[in-house]
Amino acid sequence: MKIKELCKIIEAEFPLSYQESYDNSGLQVGHPDTEITGVLTSIDVTEEIIEEAIQKRCNFILTHHPLIFGGLKNLTGNNMVQRCVIRAIQSNIAIYVCHTNLDKMKNGVSARMAKKLNLQNCKILVPEKKQLLKLVTFVPVQHAENVRQSLFSAGAGTIGDYDYCSFNSVGEGTFRAAEGTHPFAGKIGKPHAEQETRMEIILKKELKSQVISALLKSHPYEEPAYDLYELENSFADAGLGIIGELEQPEDELFFLKKIKTAFKAESVRYTELLNKKIRKVALCGGSGSGFLSTAMAQEADIYISADFKYHQFFEAEKRIVIADIGHFETEQFTKEILFELLFSIISEKNSKKTTTFAIYFSDYNTNPINYL
Ligand SMILES: [Zn+2]
Repeated sequence: MKIKELCKIIEAEFPLSYQESYDNSGLQVGHPDTEITGVLTSIDVTEEIIEEAIQKRCNFILTHHPLIFGGLKNLTGNNMVQRCVIRAIQSNIAIYVCHTNLDKMKNGVSARMAKKLNLQNCKILVPEKKQLLKLVTFVPVQHAENVRQSLFSAGAGTIGDYDYCSFNSVGEGTFRAAEGTHPFAGKIGKPHAEQETRMEIILKKELKSQVISALLKSHPYEEPAYDLYELENSFADAGLGIIGELEQPEDELFFLKKIKTAFKAESVRYTELLNKKIRKVALCGGSGSGFLSTAMAQEADIYISADFKYHQFFEAEKRIVIADIGHFETEQFTKEILFELLFSIISEKNSKKTTTFAIYFSDYNTNPINYL
């Protein structure tokens, strides 16, 4: 398999359009046409990880945190990032990043944390906005069904667990065809009125090009008219953090100890206990301190995340327990998500008896923080 084929599969699962504006997910180092020999998954890229990839004969590192975040103005090896890039290029190793686009998926980083705590009725804590588009198009009435079906087949018209969603109203469209055109109806040079269905249909942003191409293919007009609107609606299928419930309410201290064990945390920084049971749990992998107020607004009893500053602990206001378990600790299971995705690709390839590649978990703990 070539790098570009693997990138395509990963991006179908974790679309790059979901990444935060500050992020830099995607292929960072490597030529898309290179054949993959093996994949190493890790949370970070360090010099040790690149050496490990070389030893394991992996020429593709699939990582959570970007190696290159800002711009690289030179490559002289005077810091860790530059040395990693140089070593990767010299050793023909590609580096691919799945960062905030992976965080935001329903099966992403926070969802995996929720799974480790066996949370029930999970929902996205901060649903994404501006991930949905509304397509409006005008189709001659007798062709409406055909166009609608092709838009559905391209993935448009899904709202939650419902698909085939559309709104249709009939009206009159007008046009005049210029010399040299091939109008579907009417005469060249003469204004024409046509009974048209105004079709409104919702779609995810990442499906835009395939839906528009389905529209253009199925629409009988030479110049189909259509409008695309960006929607402000929340998108419940993607976003940061998770909120869910425990099967049985648990004592605060008992639950904190449970978190410590589940996430192999050396230390848990937490706020004053409130002497009530924990039922609703909000969490966010990585630096999620900014969503404390959202967790409180949704009446979570505890908010588990990382990178809280001293003053932010006061914001718990005796209404919620904050548990800061460490950045790496919240994201350590990301390797499993990446591994599982690769494993499903390999299994499919194996079933078709095509050549595959080896997948490895990195043996290194890249957490730069130690606890005494
Ligand atoms: Zn992180």
